[in-house]
Amino acid sequence: LTPVPLVDHHAHSVAPEIPDRPSFERYLTESGRPAAAGCSWFDSFLGVALLRTCAPVLDLPESAGPDEYLDRRRELGGAEVNRRLLRSGGVDAVLIDHGYRAPELVDLDELAELASTPVHRIVRLEHLAETVLEEGVTAARFADVFGERLAAELGTGSADGPAAPAVACKSVLAYRAGLDVDPSPPSPVELRAAVTEWRSGAAASASVRLGHPVVLRHLVWEGVRARVPLQFHTGYGDADLELRRADPLLLTGLIRMAETIGTPIVLLHCYPYQRHAAYLAGVYPHVFFDVGLALNYVGHRATAVLGEAIESAPFHKVLYSSDAFGLAELHCMSAARFRDALSRVLAPLRDDGARSDAEVARIAAMIGAGNARRLYGLPTGMSPGEPPVCSSGEPPL
Ligand SMILES: [Zn+2]
Repeated sequence: LTPVPLVDHHAHSVAPEIPDRPSFERYLTESGRPAAAGCSWFDSFLGVALLRTCAPVLDLPESAGPDEYLDRRRELGGAEVNRRLLRSGGVDAVLIDHGYRAPELVDLDELAELASTPVHRIVRLEHLAETVLEEGVTAARFADVFGERLAAELGTGSADGPAAPAVACKSVLAYRAGLDVDPSPPSPVELRAAVTEWRSGAAASASVRLGHPVVLRHLVWEGVRARVPLQFHTGYGDADLELRRADPLLLTGLIRMAETIGTPIVLLHCYPYQRHAAYLAGVYPHVFFDVGLALNYVGHRATAVLGEAIESAPFHKVLYSSDAFGLAELHCMSAARFRDALSRVLAPLRDDGARSDAEVARIAAMIGAGNARRLYGLPTGMSPGEPPVCSSGEPPL
């Protein structure tokens, strides 16, 4: 099945340089904390797979240890390491959420040059709202100003925005309030009162971090009304998260309310709730999902996790993402891990002769790249020989 074409529909940029081993290890975990005293985050399926996949890209044997690897990394320099690792992932396009810790990462133009691949933007709704508040908007004006800024980001408003419009929105509601909030849009009166509370809390704490559930609900509905794919973080994530409140099933009410509008709802990552996400994608036409992020952490068990994701979901609802953050290694190994797991998961389709190699390759290309191209309106045919993504020839949405 290799090479399966890939479009990474959710990732973050990479750090220009990694000064030392503790800084590198910080990117090997969602914990945000050092490993236990005397221990290392390299001692994990992720650490072992990273060295095995990435050491040869830096001219080392697969058996290289962490210190040898990091010495070589410093010798080559961040730009060369990033260039080699990003390109070796062989991803045809990547969608980037640059609304989180952006100052420590390279900008999107530089990322596109390093990776030699098209980079598309995702608007992180909470980050945009926090920027608007920081600029001093009043509670009365918040809804209008946020709406104008979002339209500019998406290239749908009258105001000037970035040269290349964003192709999707993203919500981190799961982190900020949990997915079990009231799914309905707040009224203008509720919103104004909520923004007033948020503003005074921000002034008192000197932090604009948005955690007000009413404002968060408004942002979600602005995303729904924008009618571009709306990504939700669900499942596994860093220590800010209350995992039980990140089960994608908790979005069922919102998914039903949004169905008539038709905005695609994209469930990111989902682990360990991948079967829940597969159910939602199977029964609601506007729901899509991936099991990115987790695949890097679960090592050889990626085949099992991806298998559980695909076992009940239609092939045209599953997407590829890395959710790589900071390390080009995570972009590279995620692509390798996904291709390997996908070929193993799909192998039974042809083992009994039920489907030809060409048919299985078509399904793999659909999951790896075609679904994302269709969903986000990206140019098609970027991989030589890539088959059409829909056997029916019907538009997807
Ligand atoms: Zn992410």
